[in-house]
Amino acid sequence: MNMPVMNAPASPPATDPLDALFDVMFKPMNAQGVYARTGAYEAVVEALSAFISARREDGTEVFRFPPVMSRAHLERHGYLKSFPNLLGCVSCLDGTETEIRSSADKHLAGGDWTADLQTADLVLTPAACYPVYPIAAARGAVPATGYRFDVACDCFRREPSRHLDRLQSFRMREYVRIGTPEQIVAFRESWIETATAMADTLGLPYTVETASDPFFGRLGQIMAFSQLEQALKFELLIPLRGAAAGTACMSFNYHREHFGTTWGLNLEDGEPAHTGCVAFGMDRLAVALFATHGGSIDAWPASVRSALKL
Ligand code: ATP
Ligand code: ZN
Ligand code: MG
Repeated sequence: MNMPVMNAPASPPATDPLDALFDVMFKPMNAQGVYARTGAYEAVVEALSAFISARREDGTEVFRFPPVMSRAHLERHGYLKSFPNLLGCVSCLDGTETEIRSSADKHLAGGDWTADLQTADLVLTPAACYPVYPIAAARGAVPATGYRFDVACDCFRREPSRHLDRLQSFRMREYVRIGTPEQIVAFRESWIETATAMADTLGLPYTVETASDPFFGRLGQIMAFSQLEQALKFELLIPLRGAAAGTACMSFNYHREHFGTTWGLNLEDGEPAHTGCVAFGMDRLAVALFATHGGSIDAWPASVRSALKL
């Protein structure tokens, strides 16, 4: 079977047009894709957060997650099968005071102290919605109305890049729906409509396309193909480099019964719940606003500044 080449990256231009905006948005922190954020940039991220909150549906429960989560939970999610290459784990010096002192002193002596690190029971959260499914499952059967959650998290993915729209540490905001297949499909359809209207209001050009996740390895290609074929993922892409392919700034995902089965998250009739989420890449949306409207917020179109109260 011929596998389509998904999201094949065009060879990067020698200088990226986004680079001109670096100083307005970021300061370097000695790692690709890990940046200090300027006040102007954070003002935009905060304004976007409020803009998204204003569209929160009635009956939505809010959670804000820390940037780390249980390693056991992530393993149960199947992340090691799908994206082991992107995962970051927490490791620490463990032991008595003498053992820890001797490990740390290796550094002072010019040696490698990191060989003594022990893997902890925590990983860096790679997607904002992961922690919500076990919380919902612990409540027992999903009520007939289903659940709606509003979640956010600082996420980590080990994909260092010189491109300012691909970070290792970035913010993700999501609306999550748990319920029957019909409830998830309706949720996703209405959010594609709402999200495109949001992009219009923000003066951002976009296309909405079916997409696949970059599942790891050869087996992953088959998973990605099936995801595309079933149209389980849509992305809102914003062109940040002229005519080149756009950057995914929001995604609309239907997981079918994957998380329901994984977490024993069942409907009242005992069938596994279906789940879906709409994810907003907060950093990508902020970068998109600067790339589209320019480095000086004061010079942005009045309609955009007024929608964001900037
Ligand atoms: P891409 O295809 O660009 O790698 P993705 O399919 O991996 O994106 P999702 O897993 O759907 O992205 O994550 C939800 C949203 O989080 C994306 O639509 C995007 O806006 C944002 N996002 C994902 N990866 C990054 C990253 N490395 N840097 C900044 N934002 C990101
Ligand atoms: Zn999600
Ligand atoms: Mg990705």
